[in-house]
Amino acid sequence: MIQRLLFPRRCPMCDSIIERNKLICDKCINIPRRVFGARCLKCSKHLNSQNAEYCYDCEKHKKSYVRGLALYEYDSVKDSINNFKNNSRPEYAEFFGDRIIHYLGADIKDFKADALVPIPLHPSKLKKRGYNQSELIAKVISEGLNIPLRNDVLTRKIKTKEQKKLDDSDRQKNLVGAFHMPRNGVKLDTVILVDDVYTTGSTVDEASRALLEGGVKKVYFVTVAVGVDKRQ
Ligand SMILES: [Zn+2]
Ligand SMILES: [Zn+2]
Repeated sequence: MIQRLLFPRRCPMCDSIIERNKLICDKCINIPRRVFGARCLKCSKHLNSQNAEYCYDCEKHKKSYVRGLALYEYDSVKDSINNFKNNSRPEYAEFFGDRIIHYLGADIKDFKADALVPIPLHPSKLKKRGYNQSELIAKVISEGLNIPLRNDVLTRKIKTKEQKKLDDSDRQKNLVGAFHMPRNGVKLDTVILVDDVYTTGSTVDEASRALLEGGVKKVYFVTVAVGVDKRQ
């Protein structure tokens, strides 16, 4: 990444400048909280109820992907992810990608995927932001685990409203038909979608649907962070 050469390295949590050989400062090392305890068998979200197998969202909406992995509780990395996306901190991808490889690498390899596919941004959004944060994370994972990165198999056709501003059912509707897999002769059996945050799962689910329609057989996902189970 070009940023590595041009800018000083920063702690992805407090944004202070850190040594080149570090990815996070000593003070912030315990801030990102890994998803713990009982997890949803589908999306790996922490479950509030010990007796449940699936979270509220996975039980309510049948998902098109096989299953997915998430590293951190969203609350603990919320500000960092916001800066990563909206305040020109593409270099935070190094930390997030590195931690995903460290903690989830073996499980990711077990998926035996043909490619890592980042959730695409709408072209106008990509132009405005200058980078796709999910693609930067996918790039780090791709290099670390030797799984090809494919950013050309999924396109975002419709400019959707921001998911976090919508309620559950509107989130689902907002994304219908948003993604498309161009018929360009690409043959992939198993794909891992990469995104920064997983909340209700509608983005990953809709992207997965487009891949399945395009001929992919199995879709998994990996995200940096995941929200909480709504069931109390
Ligand atoms: Zn820090
Ligand atoms: Zn779930």
